[in-house]
Amino acid sequence: DQPEPAGAKDQPEAAGAKEASSSERKGSDRGPPGHSMLAPFTSGTQQSDYHPLVITRSEGVYIFDNEGKKYLDALAGLWSTALGGNEKRLVDAATKQLSVLPFYHSFWNRTTEPSLKLAEELVDLFKPVKMAKVFYTNSGSEANDTQVKIIWYYNNHRGKPKKKKFIAREKAYHGSTLVTASLSGLSNLQNGFDLPDAFPYVLRAECPHYWRNHLPGESEEEYATRLADNLEKLILKEDPETIAAFFAEPVMGAGGVMPPPATYFEKVQAVLKKYDILFVADEVVTAFGRLGTMFGCEKYDIKPDLVSLAKAITSAYAPLGALLVSQKIWEEISAHSDKLGQFGHGFTYSGHPVSCAIALEAIQIYKEKKIDEYVAKVGPIWQEGMRAYEKSPIVAEIRGLGLIMAVEFGDKDPKKPFPASWGTGSFFGAECAKQGLLVRISGDIIMMSPTLVITEDEIKDFIRMFGEALKITENHIR
Ligand code: PLP
Repeated sequence: DQPEPAGAKDQPEAAGAKEASSSERKGSDRGPPGHSMLAPFTSGTQQSDYHPLVITRSEGVYIFDNEGKKYLDALAGLWSTALGGNEKRLVDAATKQLSVLPFYHSFWNRTTEPSLKLAEELVDLFKPVKMAKVFYTNSGSEANDTQVKIIWYYNNHRGKPKKKKFIAREKAYHGSTLVTASLSGLSNLQNGFDLPDAFPYVLRAECPHYWRNHLPGESEEEYATRLADNLEKLILKEDPETIAAFFAEPVMGAGGVMPPPATYFEKVQAVLKKYDILFVADEVVTAFGRLGTMFGCEKYDIKPDLVSLAKAITSAYAPLGALLVSQKIWEEISAHSDKLGQFGHGFTYSGHPVSCAIALEAIQIYKEKKIDEYVAKVGPIWQEGMRAYEKSPIVAEIRGLGLIMAVEFGDKDPKKPFPASWGTGSFFGAECAKQGLLVRISGDIIMMSPTLVITEDEIKDFIRMFGEALKITENHIR
């Protein structure tokens, strides 16, 4: 075992926090840090003893903190600010809508023009399957939560009331509500909340991470076959008549950025089809160009029954989530709601006109800029530039495509991760922040998904800052 590197204990990661903000400072540096906010995905120690990093302004790919320090925002907010920090057209779209109709709802067949127009736009934009309807939520979690309700509603009406269970994968992230935290395959969302037991309808499929999980000599295709075979075994063991749907992110995001192995989705879809199990594509991160295609489903030839959207739908300028609903599901919803008197589900802000107006403008910009083609062009420049760091003795794997990537620290052998007590990820993240690059740290995995409008010069700068921080971290670990 290697000795613990000097200073590692000072890092919040080593103090037990799973995720660390890479430039936070201990209270003693700037007076007591206390504040009244209960911060999401932050430990008690972190929020009591460390100052939060307070961001006050954004401009293109950059964000600025309250002390004026500038960072290249490597995660684009939370994989979300696709058009960067100060897109005036989105601000104008919001302002215009606010001045005409800041709010009206969409209950009881009343609605607003932006919500109607956006639904049409989304149905038109999504090419892998002809979708019939759009349901609006405020977030990705609510979108996936709504998927579960809609799927039960659909199965109950078509005479399959036993079809109640969902298959979701290890390391999936589908949200943090009671239901979606249960669907998510990450224990930090579940520990202490009686989950996933409180929602006992989730079956777990394997995480399709080739590097970590393949057998000696097994090709990606063979690995994908094994995963699809195991999925089929799970379905047969549980009884296909009890299984409603399979949830999947085209590329897994928050669980550590895992692109699927070759042929994976083709094989998985064949199994699901055989047993009348729906496919829910969680495109909350991958939609609107991130992989170099307008939707992740296009990249992997996925033909989903339902799709979840959020984040880049408004470039995160206002909260909005949406579900795309296919014709066969809409027909059952329609008939069932007639029988019951209404489709009894919705939120005050379903189809908020300001959010919808922003989304309409964002989509217009994506189309004008041909954002999918742009990412297909600059994504490989970033990916190839970063892959030079695969040679580093402390880099275990670099994975990703388009403008999404993870760099995992550790030994090249996946069975030999670095001890958590080294705090490698946290140390590296803090060095990045010193350089002016703000990355996401999860243990020893660094996750990145910059804005989709990042320029080639900014990509060069990104790669340079990453490299500087890597060199310092290598020396620190040795
Ligand atoms: N689905 C995926 C794939 C996500 O990455 C996220 C959030 O990161 C969600 C769902 C949940 O979205 P929200 O945080 O808007 O509820």
